[in-house]
Amino acid sequence: MAGTAMDTWLASRAEVRIRRGLERTAEARPGLLDLASNDYLGLAADPRVIDAATAALLRHGAGARGSRVVCGTTEAHQDLENQLCLLAGQEAALVFSSGYTANLGVLTALGGPGTLVIHDAHVHASLLDGIRLSRSSTLEVAHHDVAAVAAALASRTQPRAVVVVESIYSVLGDAADLAAMAGLCARFDALLLVDEAHGIGVAGEGRGAVHAAGLAGVPHVSVTATLSKALGSQGGAVLGSALLREHLVNTARTFIFDTALAPAAAAAAARAAMIVRQEPGLALRVLANAAILAGRCGVPLAPGAVQSIPVGSASRAAGLAARLRSQGVAVGCFRPPSVPDGVSRLRLTARANLTAAELEAAAGTVAAALGLGLQGGQA
Ligand code: PMP
Repeated sequence: MAGTAMDTWLASRAEVRIRRGLERTAEARPGLLDLASNDYLGLAADPRVIDAATAALLRHGAGARGSRVVCGTTEAHQDLENQLCLLAGQEAALVFSSGYTANLGVLTALGGPGTLVIHDAHVHASLLDGIRLSRSSTLEVAHHDVAAVAAALASRTQPRAVVVVESIYSVLGDAADLAAMAGLCARFDALLLVDEAHGIGVAGEGRGAVHAAGLAGVPHVSVTATLSKALGSQGGAVLGSALLREHLVNTARTFIFDTALAPAAAAAAARAAMIVRQEPGLALRVLANAAILAGRCGVPLAPGAVQSIPVGSASRAAGLAARLRSQGVAVGCFRPPSVPDGVSRLRLTARANLTAAELEAAAGTVAAALGLGLQGGQA
């Protein structure tokens, strides 16, 4: 795209208030109440997590120095994979440099010509990109449409099929019916891939929604996770059978051709995973805070940390988010293309480490802004 075309394109996005900018966040504004970040358990700044990262930094250096398959596998990576297995109740785990590359890697390894990939309409961009890259036949079904998945599996002509869902949806905050999806996959000889980016650390007392549904270790159910949300670090992982792990080590291009995750990030995530497993109260506190937040803001309670409020146009969402920020509350503002339903949303995250006073203050400010916004139109 030439310079003038970029200018015109960016201006057209600015007009409908979907042009993105990059602002410094909570760190730059002491006192700003954070309902936007994905650090659901407050582990990013936990001294135990920071100590683990510091020790790994001193021991291994700043970077991994190479791909996992060449010279980038350290004790920190192996320890992290063990901790993730213990947390999620899985046989094997393989760590990638992000949740995004984990999704690209597993989908390109599982899919391909001869595979039908059926995905929910609201799955994350990284899953969609993975599906595209895999060159599979693709079918998008409406959000939570179990009957459509069943019909597609029953009438497929491809020998293999993969169903892709999120356990807790990143923008809407609602949960997939994992038992129904797994049942269908068993019946029609398909694989179920569940992205637990927002489930690990929050659902099932921190062990994830797949574990809570009794599906951990079930051979036709695999999981992807990010280490950058509840685990407070950076990186991603695929969890499932030892056979799947071996297959990924040998086929997933985003694993083989990518520099390994920095050892300090791996050590931080390993310590965080151990804390999540040993302290289930952290996940329970997220859910308790979510209930308070949703209740005070007058929105239906979603099952995880993410409470999503539909507010209509992108312009209204941007206006409300800016108003809240100026009043000391940071919220997520999701506009197209991040919202496939076209309805822009404010996304509030209920973190475990919000005090009762912070929760009350933040929820009161949001509720007031929503009331004003509803009466007064655009903020
Ligand atoms: N999957 C989902 C559902 C997500 O919300 C995200 C993060 N936005 C990712 C994958 C990507 O994870 P990461 O940020 O670790 O690349």
